[in-house]
Amino acid sequence: MRSTINHLIQLQELTLVRDEQRSLRGPKADLDDLNEAIGQMADSLDPAVKAIHSRLSKKDRIFVTPMHAGKCSMCGMGLAISQVQAVKQCKVIVACPSCARILYDSDGPTWAGTRPRSSASGTKAGIARFSAPALMIPELKAETAAGAVEELAGALKSAGFVETTEKLVEGAMTREKMLGTGVGHALAFPHVRGVEGGGLALAFGISRKGIPWSGADGGIAKFIFFSAIPTATSVFYLKLLAGLAESYTKEANRKAALEADSPETLWKALAKATRWTVK
Ligand SMILES: [Zn+2]
Repeated sequence: MRSTINHLIQLQELTLVRDEQRSLRGPKADLDDLNEAIGQMADSLDPAVKAIHSRLSKKDRIFVTPMHAGKCSMCGMGLAISQVQAVKQCKVIVACPSCARILYDSDGPTWAGTRPRSSASGTKAGIARFSAPALMIPELKAETAAGAVEELAGALKSAGFVETTEKLVEGAMTREKMLGTGVGHALAFPHVRGVEGGGLALAFGISRKGIPWSGADGGIAKFIFFSAIPTATSVFYLKLLAGLAESYTKEANRKAALEADSPETLWKALAKATRWTVK
């Protein structure tokens, strides 16, 4: 059953990758290769699982979701001990008794407990809900995509959001292999999904020299947005992605980011750039 679950996870990831491409490149983007891969993956499911997938995927993008701390990570439903055991054993498909999504036991990255917090007090709005000055790196040292992801994941660790960076880097680089997240205007959006136990978090780094980055319009990335995404915020992430891309296709916003010489000034530039696009 583990291979069936892995197959479903990959299928879901590929579907989300297609959604990301639509968010970044608009509804007219050429996604024939992705469509074909998704079709093939769905067709090759075992008939019984295929029927379940077909039913669930009509309702929502997320049809398979990790169990976290004995709960469904999508709807938060607490599971009975016998269900927790069944998910761990993975001999049969276990559906969440509340939302019906297929559950799996994840050994993915988790949060250490802290949530992103802006230095400003009071109610948080906009980008401050997902990021903070401590997650800004105005001058990345890395010269490779993996190195940049590692530095940005390191900021999440230093700020106390995650305990280790290895799984974040591994997850993000696996995602990059499916389809590079580099897009035009030297932007890149590496990310890792299934980081449970906290909220969505965004770290932002600048490489003035530029880092080779594959992707649809890729080439060189100078503006690197790294996100750790709990499964339940997967659909919201697509909006965040579209908002960031919209802000940073504007030259004035890229210029302000390049001029930032401290985490605080980069944070201010990011907050200003996303004022209207990230809500
Ligand atoms: Zn559920």
